[in-house]
Amino acid sequence: MELIKSEVFQGSASSAQNAEGFDTDLFVIGGGSGGVRAARIAAGHGARVMLAEEHRVGGTCVIRGCVPKKLLVYASRFAHDFRDAEGFGWTVPTPHFDWNSLITNKDAEIDRLENVYQSNLEKTKVEILRSRAVVEGAHEVRVVKTGRLVRARFILIAVGANPSTLPVPGGDLAITSNEAFYLTKRPDHVLIVGGGYISVEFAGIFAGLGSRVTLVHRGDKLLRGFDHAIQDRLGDTYRKRGIEVLLGRKVEDIRKVGGFLEVRLSDGTIRRVDEVMAATGRKPHTKGLGLEGAGIVPDDDGAIPVNDHCQTKVPSIYAVGDVTNHPHLTPVAIREGHAVADTLFGGRPTPIVHELIPTAVFSTPEIGTVGLTEAAARHQYGHVTIFQATFRDMKATLSGSEERTFMKLITHPSTDKVLGVHIVGHEAAELIQLVGVAMTMGATKADFDRTMAVHPTAAEELVTMRTPSN
Ligand code: FAD
Repeated sequence: MELIKSEVFQGSASSAQNAEGFDTDLFVIGGGSGGVRAARIAAGHGARVMLAEEHRVGGTCVIRGCVPKKLLVYASRFAHDFRDAEGFGWTVPTPHFDWNSLITNKDAEIDRLENVYQSNLEKTKVEILRSRAVVEGAHEVRVVKTGRLVRARFILIAVGANPSTLPVPGGDLAITSNEAFYLTKRPDHVLIVGGGYISVEFAGIFAGLGSRVTLVHRGDKLLRGFDHAIQDRLGDTYRKRGIEVLLGRKVEDIRKVGGFLEVRLSDGTIRRVDEVMAATGRKPHTKGLGLEGAGIVPDDDGAIPVNDHCQTKVPSIYAVGDVTNHPHLTPVAIREGHAVADTLFGGRPTPIVHELIPTAVFSTPEIGTVGLTEAAARHQYGHVTIFQATFRDMKATLSGSEERTFMKLITHPSTDKVLGVHIVGHEAAELIQLVGVAMTMGATKADFDRTMAVHPTAAEELVTMRTPSN
């Protein structure tokens, strides 16, 4: 879809209301990854910007997503480090873990980051409104707290998504990731529902911190959409780590019994646990946002349809990030917010290309993936060449850890282009970022092969795989 060029930014007037009667050039609804980036870049281009945030500046990623999650992942991995250290000669006194210290320290770091986000906005002269805001027209936004109606030349909707709840009797007894970050005590036994990345990450976190974990997923594999080798490996490794992985099963109902929750599963069995966590997906936060009145109809999932410039069918209204049906990832929201600001105020119409998005799953072991899965590559090209390796990390030799690193490269048989790379193992997320650079540049297998290895590393395997496995 083309950018609808009915609106052209001519620079902002210095008076509170410019000649066309706009109070601001850009009104951003939502101070998360996409909204904050768009606001800052637009203001840097000289636009007058207002941003409304109903909860905390920073949004999901900073307040109750990527950042606190990664801090909890770090915490959970010390359990392995203490064990591994013994093989290297260390005597580690029985470690003691204190959930409250972790959550207090995590909260302090999130407060710090929120302040950084806020002061960065203030430095660029973005006006922050601590309120819910709703759309009332192609150029009108209502600031709910004060009742003020703001006329904006452009509106950017960056309201993100909310976790879905469990649609079963007693489903309201389950927490979501939002609450998991603020539990007052570490659950002894937690049952996590869902097979996506948030579910498996929290399973790894709680297991590492010493909780008993049951993972219930209605599908027959974890991590839908990932390469099958990754799906299988993660399930196997989690089971070996003592996580109860129940596939092809659903939660029928949840009841509170004494101090516990009793969860009845579709196989007729019951689990008695301390917490149930629903991680069954996230829905765009469009309810009650006034979109229909402005002429925007969300799709069946509640997502706002946009063209490749993130413009809705109302030319003055744009939407970025999790409120669209684009991949729900922070770098995607940031890239989109930046592009919208450049398009509207930087004189650089910037379409968004959602290809080759490297992603990580911070399970333990970690997963990094970029490009096509084997199934998708076969579907697209018929025949493809697969290189793969499973090996024990050097660190595991002395630590005695049973875990293996897995790497898979999928290449095009005639052009030799690398179509997909999938890694399970230590620092897979860090590795896949750089593989993403090579693939974005169009790297072939020959480019990988002529790259000098770094020895001794796990990463060198990526440039030394010589024999196809198919
Ligand atoms: P958000 O960051 O959700 O921001 C939307 C903001 O809008 C919120 O602050 C909300 O309070 C506000 N808002 C909503 N409605 C209104 C309104 N009407 N008026 C005013 N304000 C409003 N992504 C990664 O890339 N890597 C990860 O490791 C990762 N881990 C995650 C872990 C968890 C547990 C979760 C939940 C998400 C994770 N994500 C991760 C996804 C990432 O957080 C989102 O993709 C990203 O935050 C989307 O940015 P956004 O700007 O679209 O929305």
